[in-house]
Amino acid sequence: MLKPLIAGNWKMNTAIHQGVELVMRLRELIKGVDAVEVVVAPPFTSIHHLSHLVADSPIKLCGQNLHWEKNGAYTGETSAEMLVSAGCRYVIVGHSERRQYFKESDEVVNKKVVAALKGGLRPIICVGETLSEREQGKTLTKVRSQVKKALAGLAGSVVKDITVAYEPIWAIGTGKNATAQEAEEVHNAMRNYLFEMFGPDDVKDLRIIYGGSVKADNIDDLMAQPNVDGALVGGASLKAEDFARIVKFQRLT
Ligand code: PEP
Repeated sequence: MLKPLIAGNWKMNTAIHQGVELVMRLRELIKGVDAVEVVVAPPFTSIHHLSHLVADSPIKLCGQNLHWEKNGAYTGETSAEMLVSAGCRYVIVGHSERRQYFKESDEVVNKKVVAALKGGLRPIICVGETLSEREQGKTLTKVRSQVKKALAGLAGSVVKDITVAYEPIWAIGTGKNATAQEAEEVHNAMRNYLFEMFGPDDVKDLRIIYGGSVKADNIDDLMAQPNVDGALVGGASLKAEDFARIVKFQRLT
């Protein structure tokens, strides 16, 4: 069984002092947890500051985005190397908010995935359908296409460093989560598709996590699904108690 990954995406929330408070509290609450990989993605401005606080804790840091170039005239952008030097081990790529508000295409997502891996970061690649795509029965076609394009050209040997986050867009920040069965159906289909793309050996260590209104009261059911390897948590990751309860999900199986 894969070690579950629970990641908190703080989005554009928390000034440095608030991030420090959140991490200090979380550290206390999850002390001794080692059966779960715990990741938080603060705003760029806080990452280096927090790197000292997470050093002797189970928490790993994650960027919320990156640019595919190493450096250069790209005002406002941040490279994989810069994130690593600030203390990150992971980076979120292709979040639906970046796809929607910053017009990130599947091709851009692919360039970022390649750059992250080359730069020493483990990408958490977000895919998911809109409500109208789900209603038209296009969920699996959409996520397969996003996965195919995001992972295009990658050698099978690097796939173990990738996490795919299934995040139905209609469930993000809306309080409407996919049911555990709906998530499992998509995760299972995605895993089979990844097997076809790379073969079982390369894919056996790739985690598929669920995101979209994950909370203390739905995490246990989600984590009981055989193909749900963790969660990407937005809103509930901003409260240390809520996030810690999610990290300490109860095994129902
Ligand atoms: C997210 O932004 O990745 C997310 C899943 O948000 P929320 O948990 O708030 O729905």
